[in-house]
Amino acid sequence: MAEVKFIFVTGGVTSSLGKGIISASLAKLLQARGYSVTIQKLDPYINVDPGTLNPYEHGECYVTLDGAETDLDLGHYERFLNVPTSQANNITTGRIYQTVINKERRGDYLGKTVQVIPHITDEIKRRIKLVSAGNKFDIVITEIGGTVGDIESLPYIESVRQLKWEMGSHNCLVIHLTLVPYLSASGELKTKPTQHSVKALLEAGIQPDILVLRTVKNLTPDVRRKVALFCNVEENAVIESVDVSTIYEVPLKMLDEKLDQTVLRKLELSLKSEPQLSEWRDFLHKLRNPKTSTRIGIVGKYVELADAYKSIHESLIHSGAMNECHVNIQYIHSEDITETNAPVILGDLDGILVAPGFGSRGIEGKIHAAKFARENNIPFLGICLGMQCAVIEFARNILNFEGAHSTEMDHKTKYPVIDLMEEQKRVTDKGGTMRLGGYRCKISGGTKAFEAYGKTEVIERHRHRYEFNNLYLEDFSKNGMIPAGINPESNLVEIVEIPDHKWFVGVQFHPEYSSTVLNPHPLFVSFIRASIIGKTG
Ligand code: GLN
Repeated sequence: MAEVKFIFVTGGVTSSLGKGIISASLAKLLQARGYSVTIQKLDPYINVDPGTLNPYEHGECYVTLDGAETDLDLGHYERFLNVPTSQANNITTGRIYQTVINKERRGDYLGKTVQVIPHITDEIKRRIKLVSAGNKFDIVITEIGGTVGDIESLPYIESVRQLKWEMGSHNCLVIHLTLVPYLSASGELKTKPTQHSVKALLEAGIQPDILVLRTVKNLTPDVRRKVALFCNVEENAVIESVDVSTIYEVPLKMLDEKLDQTVLRKLELSLKSEPQLSEWRDFLHKLRNPKTSTRIGIVGKYVELADAYKSIHESLIHSGAMNECHVNIQYIHSEDITETNAPVILGDLDGILVAPGFGSRGIEGKIHAAKFARENNIPFLGICLGMQCAVIEFARNILNFEGAHSTEMDHKTKYPVIDLMEEQKRVTDKGGTMRLGGYRCKISGGTKAFEAYGKTEVIERHRHRYEFNNLYLEDFSKNGMIPAGINPESNLVEIVEIPDHKWFVGVQFHPEYSSTVLNPHPLFVSFIRASIIGKTG
C-alpha cells in the first residue's frame, strides 16, 4: 500500500477564518475523486478535551461515536465527509502533556530531562500519525488550531516542520489560510497581513506550499501575482476563498479554484476521476430552491452564541433541504420564557426544539416551552436536557407530581423523575465521565420514532449524566407519555413520545451529532415534515 500523505492547514492574520470549513471542503473534493481521507484537529489549549468548556468559550462540544468530547470542527468534518471521526481525530495540548507527564512518572524517560523538544513534539508527531494507523487512509488533513505566531501553537508548528523535513514535500504539504482585507476608503485589497503571516511561518522554518486567501471581494490577477511573488509560492497555489452564503458552497468554490488539483499534483498523486459531487449539488439545489418554509424555534440558554448549537442548526438545514423547505431558525432565550408570555414568544412557531444543556439557568423557560408545545399540538423535539424538561413538565402538569424535577436541579425533589444512575453517583471527576458516545436503542413499532427511522434498532450518541427514572415509567405510560426507545442493555429510556400529539418526541441522546449533508438525521427530517404539515392544516 502507498504511503499516507499528510496535509497541514494553518491559519494566519486572525482567528475564525474558517480553517475547519476549508479543511472539510478539501477533504470532500479529494474524497469525491476517490481517495479515502480523514481530518484531524490539533487544539493548543491545556484542557484535556473541550468537554469541560462552557459553550460561550468554545461553542458546542461535539461527541464522536466512540465517545470523545471534541472540538466542533469535527462536526463539520463528519457533515461534509459522511464518515465518522474518533478519539484520535482531536488532540489538545492538555492531552499531549498529560501523556508525556504520565510517561515521565512511570519512568519511561528515566535519567533524562523531559523537554518541549523533543518530548512534546515527538508526542505530537506520534498522535498525528496515529490517526492513519493501519493505513486506513490515503490522505490525512491536520488542522492546527489558533493563529500562526501564537506562543501556544509553537510546538505544533515545530512538529509540522519536522514532519515535512522527514517525509519530503511530496508527502507532506502545508496550506496556510489568511485574510486579505478590503479597505473601502481606498477601494483596495491588502496583501501585507498575508505577507507578514507567511513571514511568521518562515521564521518557524516552514515555507507554505499553498495559500488560501479569505476575502470579501474577488482577488484580481495582480493581487494573486503579488502574493505569489512575495510569499514565494506558485501562482496557481494562491487560492481565493471568497465569502459565500452557505458553508456547503465552499467545496464547489475550491473546485473552481482547482485546490484539489494543485494539492494532488504537489503530493504526486493522480487526479483519478472527476469529482463525484452530484448528490452534493443536488443538496445545494434543494437548499437554494425551497418549495415551502417553516419556522422552528430553538429554545436554549446559550443562544447569544451561534456556535453553541452548531450541530442542531446544521441538522435543521440538512433536513430542511431534504424536505425542500426553508427552515427559518429562531433562537429563543429560555430565560425569557414564562408561563404567561409563552404564547407571545412561541405562538407563531411551526415547531419547537428544546436544546440540550447543563445546570439550572433557564430551566423553567424550557419546561414552559415543552408545556406550550404539548398543549398546543405544536411539533416538538426535545434533545437531552430538552427531553428531560418534557418529562418534568408532564410529571408536574399531567401526573400532578408537584415539584417534580431532575435531581440535577433539585436534589431534594419529592418526585425525581430524572435522576442519576447508580454508577454516576460515585463519579467525582468532571472530565470525560458522562454517559458518552454510541449506545443501542430499541424502538417500538407504531411510534413516531419508528416511522422516522424505519427500523427497530439504532445507535445514537450520548452526552449526559442524568436519566429518565424508571420508577415512574408506569405512571407516564398509563397517562400518555410512552417510552418509544429503550437501551436493551440497561433498560434506560432513550426516547419518549406522546402518541396523542401531532409530533412530540424527546430523545435522551443527541441526533444532531450524526446528521450529515448526504444523510440528514431521520428524526430531524420527520420533525421538519411534521412542522410543515402543521402549517397547512
Ligand atoms: N444536564 C443533563 C444531564 O447531564 C442533560 C445533558 C445534555 O443536555 N447534554 O443529564
